Amino acid sequence: MNVWNAVSPLQKCDDTKPGKPGIEYADESWNPYTGCRNIENGNCNLGADCWAYSMAQRLKGRYGYDAEDPFKPTFHPDRLADPLKWRKPRRIAACFMGDIAYCPWEWLYRIKDTVSGLHEPYDKTIHRFYFLTKLPQGNVFKYRPWPENAWLGVSVSSHRDIWRIRQLKKTKARVKWVSFEPVEGPMGKLDLEGIDWVVIGAKTGRHKGAPRRKWVETIVATAAWEEIPIFIKPNLPGEWVLPYSDYPKFPSPEGSP
Ligand code: SF4
Repeated sequence: MNVWNAVSPLQKCDDTKPGKPGIEYADESWNPYTGCRNIENGNCNLGADCWAYSMAQRLKGRYGYDAEDPFKPTFHPDRLADPLKWRKPRRIAACFMGDIAYCPWEWLYRIKDTVSGLHEPYDKTIHRFYFLTKLPQGNVFKYRPWPENAWLGVSVSSHRDIWRIRQLKKTKARVKWVSFEPVEGPMGKLDLEGIDWVVIGAKTGRHKGAPRRKWVETIVATAAWEEIPIFIKPNLPGEWVLPYSDYPKFPSPEGSP
């Protein structure tokens, strides 16, 4: 089934609408998979502040989070059908409560079925699903073909993470995006050719703080050179925010979410 045949222009996601606080490019969070194995003594092995780990600790023993180990990779089949209940197209942050790199194949297939619109009532509503990982060598990126409304992204904070962009480029995702959030250092030689969308944001939480303007300007200039739409999150200083809240647009006659 080609879900794109079912899309009318009226059913596109509304990119003029402000999204959720903290994930301003999304209307909704959806977490049929949660958890990550990259955590040790409460710290991410990759040196990132893991808000998902902290949140899972707060929810332990409730809402499907294990009482002993709430951040272990967990499948929540009861949440699979949630997007089917949302009749208007939504921009959905998918599986942000962990890293989907640790999601086993059998769970991934079922998540992908929801994203693909294989469910009966779903062909009338098309959502956009954002997937994001710090471990692009994992399952999510090996899976193909991904549905066209699954936007696959990698997190990049400084030049040490640039390899993730190279991995991303190898995938067959229709939309490949890079989340430069938080920007923590210079990017060095940045090649964004083949990337469809760029999000830029500052550090939040315990260590919150704005990055150096020069680091952000390098990303903006590189993206602008490649004519890549840029979304700057409002946690960056005000004067950096206003001109940039763009999304990829495709001239497809079927429309794009
Ligand atoms: S979810 Fe992301 S930030 Fe948290 S431990 Fe896993 S890789 Fe690190």
